[in-house]
Parts: sequence; C-alpha cells; structure tokens
Amino acid sequence: MARSAYVSNELKCHVVYYCKDCEKIVEGKPFGRKFVYRCAVCGTKNVAFGTEKTIRAFYRVKEEDEKAANAAKVENPKSG
Ligand SMILES: [Zn+2]
Repeated sequence: MARSAYVSNELKCHVVYYCKDCEKIVEGKPFGRKFVYRCAVCGTKNVAFGTEKTIRAFYRVKEEDEKAANAAKVENPKSG
C-alpha cells in the first residue's frame, strides 16, 4: 500500500518569525538545537514563530500594505 503519513518536524511550511521587541515580523535565526530563534534585527531571543496567518492574528501585526491599498481606494464623490 501507499506510504502513510509523511510527517516532517521541519518548519518548511509557510512560517514567519515575530520579534516581540521589534513588534514586527522579522527574519528568524535558529539558536541552538531547540526551537529557539533569534531576531535577525535586534538579536533578542524574544521571537515567536508560526504560520503567517497565526502570527498576524495573534499579534495583530500591522499590515501596512493592505492599509495603503485601502487608503488608495477612496471613493470619488463625483457627480454628473
Ligand atoms: Zn527584534
């Protein structure tokens, strides 16, 4: 039969790192053998990781791109 569930422990799926000090999504650097990551910006280990969706929802990361897009989408009260 087919090989069953291929389970991987590696964080290969869309994972982002959130630095609680920088208060933004940063590049995570593995620190030691445990699942501890360092912020590439400020170097703290105060970094959480997860899927982008989870991190954004949990930490309410500012989505400046979306805001900008919405801001540009202002209705034109043109008549006539
Ligand atoms: Zn940081």
